[in-house]
Amino acid sequence: MAQHDEDGATAASTPADPAAAPEVHLAYKVDIVVIGAGQAGLSSAYHLHELGLAPGRGYLVLDKAPAPGGAWQYRWPSLTLSTVNRVHDLPGMAFADVIDPGLTEVPASQAVPRYYEAYERKFELPVYRPVTVKVVCARGERFRVETDKETFSARGLINATGTWETPYIPDYPGRESFRGRQLHTRDYRTAEAFAGQRVLVVGGGISAVQILDEISRVTDTIWVTRSEPRFRDRPFTPEDGRAAVALVEDRVRRGLIPGSIVSVTGLPLTPALRAARERGVLARRPMFSAITPEGVRWADGQEEKVDVILWCTGFRSSLDHLAPLQIREDDGGIVMTGRLATEVARDPRIHLVGYGPSASTIGANRAGAAAARELTATLGIGGISANPLPSPGGGG
Ligand SMILES: Cc1cc2nc3c(=O)[nH]c(=O)nc-3n(C[C@H](O)[C@H](O)[C@H](O)COP(=O)(O)OP(=O)(O)OC[C@H]3O[C@@H](n4cnc5c(N)ncnc54)[C@H](O)[C@@H]3O)c2cc1C
Repeated sequence: MAQHDEDGATAASTPADPAAAPEVHLAYKVDIVVIGAGQAGLSSAYHLHELGLAPGRGYLVLDKAPAPGGAWQYRWPSLTLSTVNRVHDLPGMAFADVIDPGLTEVPASQAVPRYYEAYERKFELPVYRPVTVKVVCARGERFRVETDKETFSARGLINATGTWETPYIPDYPGRESFRGRQLHTRDYRTAEAFAGQRVLVVGGGISAVQILDEISRVTDTIWVTRSEPRFRDRPFTPEDGRAAVALVEDRVRRGLIPGSIVSVTGLPLTPALRAARERGVLARRPMFSAITPEGVRWADGQEEKVDVILWCTGFRSSLDHLAPLQIREDDGGIVMTGRLATEVARDPRIHLVGYGPSASTIGANRAGAAAARELTATLGIGGISANPLPSPGGGG
């Protein structure tokens, strides 16, 4: 662990009455704190190490989760390596080195954590867990990083806290009056838990349609989305991916709320979804206008009784702990800059990775490299790069 030091308070001389002594705020001094140990945080840590920063005093990673795996450890069991889009390799160690590529039916919630664990071990990354960062405040040249355990004093921050902690549910009138169950994607485990119940699935993303497909095999479902879903009949090409990332990158450079990458790529028509369409499950209805105690009501007055409302309405970036740093514009957006738009324009000592254009496993990889390089340059530390950085078009 980094060296113990004081931050912003003077140690009192030994008091006669300890209870009357002024509080002494001890903080571990470190150059860069990485917050979060998912794909984005691990990639950043790898590159900080490659740039010559010492584990502990030079950089460390704080992670809220009890075990390696980032948010992947919480994903529902039916999300397997064959149903995820793709988990991209972290730099320096292939996924296939740890998980047999033939094991396509292994839950991602087991495989990815195993990979991350092996990765942390191989590169001896200084990850401290479970440590929850509660709040980060500016203290002159440094940041004060307060956690549920120790306090840290850092010169720079790489924030990689993902979105899993911040489920988003839109507000509709009558939501509190509903007598059935309301759940979010985050709470979903198995379709069987809904057998015999009428389930309304809300949302037009990949998770929504995958979960809808599963639940509709065991019970009655209704699907509502805000806009007409766009299905993609042809394979997703690298050019499609680059175009989608470019759109989101443009948004964050202008300080707009990012929006998810998937929202601009459309829904891939997998064999499972084709079959669901043939079963009539993808007959989408527009959003209801109100929630009633028994179900929902549409604008034309028509009502539908349901037992469960499952909100597959996505997530927002988990950034509340950075609120005192005032990185947001008045409308809530954050103006991003730097090579891959990881640098906060208002304060170049703060990088956000896994945010906006880098909210995917491949994006997080590249963002980690760019953030580590730019932040160490800003702070004037490190600089020994054993490996060249990948180009924006290249792999992780
Ligand atoms: C259902 C679902 C399926 C997906 N499928 C794919 C896919 O197939 N392919 C793909 O490329 N991407 C996919 N994504 C996106 C992908 O998971 C992420 O963009 C990517 O893994 C990068 O993750 P991350 O490191 O930004 O965040 P995470 O994996 O969420 O890691 C963030 C870490 O930060 C920690 N943390 C959060 N808050 C704090 C705090 N205050 N203090 C300390 N630690 C904190 C968390 O505990 C966690 O360990 C999917 C996302 C979802 C929700």
